[in-house]
Order: sequence, then C-alpha cells, then structure tokens
Amino acid sequence: MTRDIYETPVQYIKGIGPRRAKLLQRLGIKTLLDALYYLPFRYEDRCVIRKIAELSHDGIQTVEGEIVSSGIRSTSRFKIFELLVNDGSGLLTGKWFNQPYMEKLFRKGDRVLLSGIVRMDNYRGGGYEMHNPDFEVLGKVDKNKIHTSRIVPFYRTTAGLGTRTLRSIMFSIIGFASGKIDDFLPEYILKRYNLPSLGEALRNVHFPEEDAGLEEINRGTSRYHQRLAFDELLLLQTGLAVLKRGRKNERGISFKSGRTLMKGLLERLTFELTGAQKRVVNEIVRDMEPPLPMNRLIQGDVGSGKTVVALLAMVHAVESGYQAALMAPTEILAEQHYINISRMVKGLNIRTALITGGVRERLDDEIARGEVDIIVGTHALIQEEVGFHKLGLVIIDEQHRFGVMQRAMLRKKGLSNLPDVLVMTATPIPRTLSLTLYGDLDCSVIDELPPGRRPVVTKLFNEGTKGRLYGFIRSEVKKGRQAYIVYPAIEESEKTNLKSAIPAREGLEKIFPDLNIGLIHGRMKPQEREDVMGAFKDGKLDILVSTTVVEVGVDVPNAAIMLVVHAERFGLAQLHQLRGRVGRGTHQSYCFLLYYGRLSEEADRRLQVMIKYSDGFRIAEEDFSIRGPGEFFGTRQAGIPDFKVANLIRDARILDAARKEAFDIIGNDPSLSSFPELRGMVERFWQGKVEIFRTG
Ligand code: ADP
Ligand code: MG
Repeated sequence: MTRDIYETPVQYIKGIGPRRAKLLQRLGIKTLLDALYYLPFRYEDRCVIRKIAELSHDGIQTVEGEIVSSGIRSTSRFKIFELLVNDGSGLLTGKWFNQPYMEKLFRKGDRVLLSGIVRMDNYRGGGYEMHNPDFEVLGKVDKNKIHTSRIVPFYRTTAGLGTRTLRSIMFSIIGFASGKIDDFLPEYILKRYNLPSLGEALRNVHFPEEDAGLEEINRGTSRYHQRLAFDELLLLQTGLAVLKRGRKNERGISFKSGRTLMKGLLERLTFELTGAQKRVVNEIVRDMEPPLPMNRLIQGDVGSGKTVVALLAMVHAVESGYQAALMAPTEILAEQHYINISRMVKGLNIRTALITGGVRERLDDEIARGEVDIIVGTHALIQEEVGFHKLGLVIIDEQHRFGVMQRAMLRKKGLSNLPDVLVMTATPIPRTLSLTLYGDLDCSVIDELPPGRRPVVTKLFNEGTKGRLYGFIRSEVKKGRQAYIVYPAIEESEKTNLKSAIPAREGLEKIFPDLNIGLIHGRMKPQEREDVMGAFKDGKLDILVSTTVVEVGVDVPNAAIMLVVHAERFGLAQLHQLRGRVGRGTHQSYCFLLYYGRLSEEADRRLQVMIKYSDGFRIAEEDFSIRGPGEFFGTRQAGIPDFKVANLIRDARILDAARKEAFDIIGNDPSLSSFPELRGMVERFWQGKVEIFRTG
C-alpha cells in the first residue's frame, strides 16, 4: 500500500546505503516521501548538443564526442585532470581541478557528454575548454542520461554530498517510486482540472521531459509543478475544512440576553455605529445564539472601529452569564484596551480586569471565582495558568501572531462547553493569506470607515528637509493638535547607528522648549507607560516620542501628526499601522516619512506604496508581492505547515479551486472514509501542528 512505500527509509533504496542516508538526513530526507518532495530549486537545459566547431560563449553548452586522450598535469597550485574530446568537428578539453580520481572514470575511445561553460584556452593555442564540466560516459547501450543532454535538475546539497551524487540518488529514487505510488486525489478532480497523475508530476518535476519549457519549470508554473501546488493547497484546505466541520459536533454555548447591556453601551457612545459595524454586530450576535462554538474572523482596516464591535459582543456574553476575555499582542495595547473598555462600560455594573506578564495583582482568584466579567490581557492569558470561572467568549485582537495552533490552545481553556472565539485582524491581509491562516473561520468584514475621516496626507522627507518638518509640527501643535514621533530603537547603539527614542527626546526638548514632550517605550514599567499614555490622551502632552509600541491599536483622536523617523527601516504593515494612529478624529492629519541616507530600491518601493495608497487591503497586496509570502508575517509561526511548491501569490487561482474542492469533499464525507489515501496525506501534512481527525 502507498502509505508504507512513503515511509520506506531511503537507506534501503538501491545505491543509497547507510553512509549516504546520513548525509541525506542532513537535508531533512529520511523517508521516501521526504525524498520525493525534495524538489530541485532550478533547472538547466542541456538538451541541445552542439558541434564543437559551432560553440559559442553564452551560458552552458553540451557537446558529445570521443575521448582522444586523458591525463593529469601538475602546476604549482593544482593537479589538473584533462580530457581531450573530438566530435569530428573539432577538439575540446575538459579540465577538473584537484580531482585526480577523475582519471579512473574515463578510458580512451569512450564516448562522453560534457556540459559546461565554454572558455578559450589562451595559453595554448586558443582551443575550446570547459572547467569542471558535468559529464556522462555513454555506454554501448543507451542508458538513461542524468546529468547531461536533458533538462537537468539542481538540488540544494550539503558538504560531503556532491551535486552529481545527489542527482543520481534522486534519479534512482524517482525510478523506484514513481510507478508504485497511488494517486491520493480523487479521479474526478484530476479530470476536472486536467491534472497529471501524482507519479507523472513527481517524475517531471525532478527530471523534466525534453519538451518541458525551461522557463515554466524554473518559475514553478509547469503543469507538473501546478499539480503539486494544487495538492498542497488542497491538503491545507481539507485540514481547515475538517477543523471547521468538526466544530459542528462540539458543544458550545448558547448566548441569550435581553440585550440591555448592549443597548446601555450604545447609548453611552458619542457616535452612531456605521452600517458595517451594525451588520457585523448582528452577524456575531446571531452566531453566538446556537449551542455551537463560534469561530469568526472580523476583518476591518485600521480605524474601522473593531473595538466597539468586540465590546458589544463581550457585554452580550456577560449579560448571558459568562466571562469574556480580550487578548492583545502587546502589553501596551492590552493596557489601552483595558482603559478604554473600563471607561466605556462605566455605570453598567461590569467588572473588568487586566492581566499581562507585568500585572497580575492577585487577580487570578477573582477571575476564578467569577468576580470579574471582562478580562483584558496579553498572551499571558493563555500561556500562564489563568483559570476562568465561566469563560464564554474569547476575542483575539490584532492577532496576526495567533494562528490555528494558538487558537486550538485557547479553546482548551474553556469549561465543558467550548468558548466562542472572535479573531480580529489588525493589518488587512491579502485574501489568499487569510484563506490560509483563517480558512477555518467564518468571516465578517467591516468595510466602511466612520464618517468624517479625511485621508491622511502622507509625505516623504529626507534628513536635509527636516527643519521644515519641525516648523510644521510646531504650527499644528499651536492649533491644538498632537504629534507622535516614532523611532526604530530605544537607545543609540554602535551597531546600528540609528536615531533612537531616548536621545532624540532630549534633542527635541531643545528644539521645542515650549512644548510638552513625553516618552514611551517597551522597557518602561507598565504603570509609567499607562501614566504617559494617559497624559497624551488627556492632551497634557503635545508630542509623544516613542518606539513602535504605539504601532497597534493605540487610539488618540486628537493626534494629527505621525512622524516616522528612519521610515526606510519599517515594513509596510508597520507603516500602515503607524499611520493608522492618526486620522482618527475630524482634523486633517499628516504622516511624515523621514528617511536617512540613500533609499534602497525596495525601501523606495515601500514608501511609494504608502504615498499612493491608503486602503489597507491594497497595501497588504503590494506588501505581499514585494516581499513574497514566506516573509509576510511568518506563516510558519502561525502554525501553518510550510509549502514546498505552492506560492500564495503565484497560485491564487489554484488556491480558490483547491479550497472549493476541499470543502466539497469534507461536506460530503467528513471523515474521508471513501478517500483513505487522501486522509492519510492530510494527516501527514498537518502532522504535529493540529490534530485534524480526532481519533476514536
Ligand atoms: P480599529 O478597527 O483600528 O481597532 P478602533 O476600534 O480603535 O479601530 O476605532 C478607532 C476610533 O474610531 C476610535 O476612536 C473609536 O472610538 C472610533 N469609532 C469607532 N466606531 C465609530 C463610529 N461608528 N463613528 C465614529 N467613531 C467611531
Ligand atoms: Mg484595534
């Protein structure tokens, strides 16, 4: 059966043995499956065999000829093995440096293929030569060609395991396996998308047919690569579909309240909810009603007003008799939420508490006894042993750092009935990525900003023009506005030589002796930070000098200027978040991006994106394509298995198809009982990440 074949240790495959198996292990290859999915990172076309007389000097060329003579020549520095080859049109010398053992591989009169870059031998008559060419000795029978006269794969290798050896090993592995493995994709899917069989795909991805387009295979867009990408995305989405489906059998909480607290809260607000907020609140409340655990994603750009939506859900949970927890990614944001929420629910007889790594204040007991209704905190909420009395709703804010795995952990915190979970994304993320990270969740989108918001004017400055900037800041402050000035570091360091917050504050006090300047950074005590944030919020500070601790979630509507120092050092998601700190009130706001030195091409692209776009989703797409999916928020961290072939930018259309098929399959056959091979692969794909199929 296929599964056993996949688990075969490579050591037992002909021509490998224990020594090579050890080396392969360094590349992460233990089993046949590992080997089959250890893919080449590039390919070279060595199909065309050239006449020696017609060789040119551009790129790799391949010739075939007969060995006229061979031997080792010593110079002061090298032992050079030389092979003289004649193909009837001319002569060419192959040279290998310090590899005297090569001599044994060739005999006069053998026919050989050589592939390499063609050079001229300037010392000895200007003949053609190749240095360290790849080669093949052609036997009497026409054997398989591995290294030349074909499209040749290149694998990342390791010390002690040469490219040729590894390529030969892969060749025998493919030969051994490709006829034996069953296809785990249902037949109708292969037909529907005109996909090649798995064996065929693997064979061609490792050792492409002659007529494969070199460019396509190097880009990973050949139909064989695309088949493997489809597989990965299907396995991913099938796992997510199983997770989602599995919840239908779990016991959750049915929240029912008279909505008195919600109404009370709405009356207290100084604004009216936007249409989008109302819609999303309704979606949430409706979803909280049935006795199943809710798992919902709220997407909304920076400033779209997610917090109040979350709070409405929390008070609904509280009135239904449960505790609600809100988890934020940083202490400072947790503190801000805590302060805001406590203020908003004042008079509603709701008890709130804050739990971060820094503050616990013997709250645990009160939480456990149910004397607290709303608990705000950081990761500490899940990482440490906080015991809840009756946890009903968990909200994860600004959470791109929490993935499938962390959510799974959270759910264990609930009592016999699983809590409802709401995930709020801070940075809008590209659709393909959200389907990957949150593909198991239902989704609500707040696609409308509160009225009266004016787009933030965004401008680029270099060091030489910063005097003008300070003048502008002063005049805005005189009008009653406040400003953030954000630095990439807390303190000066010789290594980075960056402007940093602590010394900059002293400098700014000289520039603005008449203004009140505060400082906030991550190394301050929580209480100090709270005081500074409070003072800024109350308008007692004109300028807040800070590090990126203000990046997410901080909300001071009167702040109208965001100056980012060393803007070239920040990523797009961060810049968008920082800019999102202003433009929250009704005043015209400004974001100034101050850069030092010469901009790299990539930094320039990023800053131009900031100037051109204000829509977070658009910025996320641009970011994604500048940086590539791997770099984008570290998908690995989020508990999503790595892709070997699939690429969320290139393969967006495949993702859609794979998602549809995956959810259809699981909809019809939740435990995949009619697709045992597929089930095996899904389990393997998710192994060690999340338990996909509950056994038993
Ligand atoms: P985010 O979605 O970025 O978390 P917040 O929830 O912090 O946004 O809200 C941003 C600001 O907009 C806050 O000052 C909040 O009080 C305000 N706000 C939220 N909803 C509305 C609304 N419907 N009308 C006016 N202001 C609103
Ligand atoms: Mg927020």
